[in-house]
This record gives sequence, C-alpha cells and structure tokens, in this order.
Amino acid sequence: MLSLKPVIANKDVTLHILKRFGIRMSKKLGQNFLVDPSVVAGIVKAAGIQEQDVVLEIGPGIGTLTQGLAETGAKVVAVELDRHLLDVLAHTLEGYENVRIVHGDILKIDILQEVGCGPFKVVANLPYYITTPIIMELLEARLPIDYMVTMVQKEVAERMAAEPGSKAYGALSVAVQYYTKPHVLMIVPPRSFIPAPAVDSAVICCERREKPAVEVEDEALFFRVVKAAFGQRRKTLANALKAGGFPQEQLQLVLAKAGIDAMRRGETLSLDEFAAIANGLFAQKRTEEKL
Ligand code: SAM
Repeated sequence: MLSLKPVIANKDVTLHILKRFGIRMSKKLGQNFLVDPSVVAGIVKAAGIQEQDVVLEIGPGIGTLTQGLAETGAKVVAVELDRHLLDVLAHTLEGYENVRIVHGDILKIDILQEVGCGPFKVVANLPYYITTPIIMELLEARLPIDYMVTMVQKEVAERMAAEPGSKAYGALSVAVQYYTKPHVLMIVPPRSFIPAPAVDSAVICCERREKPAVEVEDEALFFRVVKAAFGQRRKTLANALKAGGFPQEQLQLVLAKAGIDAMRRGETLSLDEFAAIANGLFAQKRTEEKL
C-alpha cells in the first residue's frame, strides 16, 4: 500500500494539529510556526545535510522543520522548551527513528552531551525573543559546529552580515564575522508563519571559519574593546573606549601606533582595526607588567 507522509509545513495541517492537541501558541516562547514547504525545503537544502550528519535543531515546535531534516536520514537532536509540545512531537514525528527530542532550554542544557563530541550542524527557526543570546552562546562556547542555518528576524540577519560603516554594523556583526562567514540566503515574509510575525524574517547561513577572521592575543580583551566601542555609538572612538574603562593615555598611544583616528566612530572600524587596538592594549599591559 502506498504510504503518504503528511507534510506538517502546511497551513491546514498545522491548524489541524494545533486544534487536535489543544495547543495555544505561546507568544512568550516566540512560537511562530513555519507553514511554507518551500522555505523548509530551502533551509534543509542550504544546510547541505548528508545521511551521516548530526543536526541540532533548536525549538522544533510541532515538528515542521524537524520533519524536513529527518527526511534526509541524518541524526537529528531537537531541543524544545515547551513541555506542551512534547506529545505533539511524539505524534508528528512518529516513525522517524533518527530523531530524538530533548526537553530543555537550549541556553541551559549541555549541548555536547546531547549531540556527542563530533562535528555537527545547527538548523533552526529561532525563537526571536532570544535569538542573539542563542547565537552568541553557540559561537562563544567553541562548539564543533561546521555550519549554522537559522531563521531570524530580517533586521537581525542584516546585523549579523553587516559591513563596517553601515547602520546595522555592531557588536553582533563583529562576533558573527569573527567566528564565521555569514550570508543571507532568503527573505521570508510574515505569511509563511502561523501566527504571522509583525516583521520580515530571513534565513542566514554561517559557515564556521577554520580559525577566527583576525588574530588576537586575548579574545576577552578584543570583545571588551568591541563592546565598549559600540556601547556609546554617538561618541568618538576615544571617548567610547574611555567610557568603557580603558585609560586615555594608553589609548592615545595604541590608536596612534595602529594609525587609527581617535575621532572616528566605533561603527566604522573593521575587524582588523579592532584587533589592532586590542593587541596594542595587550602589548602595553605586558610591557607594564614587566617594568
Ligand atoms: N521549528 C518550528 C517551526 O519552524 O515551525 C518552531 C519554531 S518557533 C519560531 C521557536 C520554537 O522554539 C518554539 O517551539 C518554542 O517553544 C521554542 N523555544 C523557545 N525558547 C526556547 C529555548 N530556550 N530552548 C529551546 N526551545 C525554545
């Protein structure tokens, strides 16, 4: 007998599932479920998933994207915070032996314990209320993530991929570009979700760099400089860094040595220039320690 797999990425199927399980979608948990099969297919294709891959999905919801991922044959670990969705997922993903649902908060669980120690991919339609903390956590934890394909608000995707000097360029752009090569794959309109969010979304692919984009002596110091430079966007670089706790005399020397005008604004600096400042400050600290 021909067996037909129901495709969850469909408005009627999604509404039916929500009704059958009496699910009231939670705005607080960022629940906007995908109902556009072409978007699901686009995300799965962009992630280039092979059968031998391990994929971490964040927030499977009712299993829409999970089903697309499961169909590739890869091992899928999907972490969902909302316990009300666990029964739904057990039903919608029944028969997919390659899928494991983990009940938990992606910001709190031990990811490596769930996915194993080898390289893995991250694929997710992220809950928008914690997009930035999730992305920062995944990047900073230095997990062996080869590739990350995520749906985020369009404005966040623009910030992640922004060039120096643009309005969208900020600390998130520097962090994402320091660890990965990002590119926006597609813009997704509100009608592709239930309920429709108020803004456009975008799918962004981030390919992990073999080594960070710039060489820095002290990563924590580098990110402190970046944070301070963007902390006071209206101030000049020198004043913003001073307000961030870096002593002025040191700064003047470091900026002069790096050939960076202290009157520039933080948002005009490239990753190389941020690295030059951080490495200059690091060298000074070393010299002072030796004296
Ligand atoms: N993947 C589904 C889809 O594309 O239709 C649902 C995506 S929905 C935008 C985000 C999902 O993340 C929701 O199911 C929500 O319950 C879940 N979620 C919210 N916060 C979470 C957290 N801290 N950890 C894990 N999942 C979370």
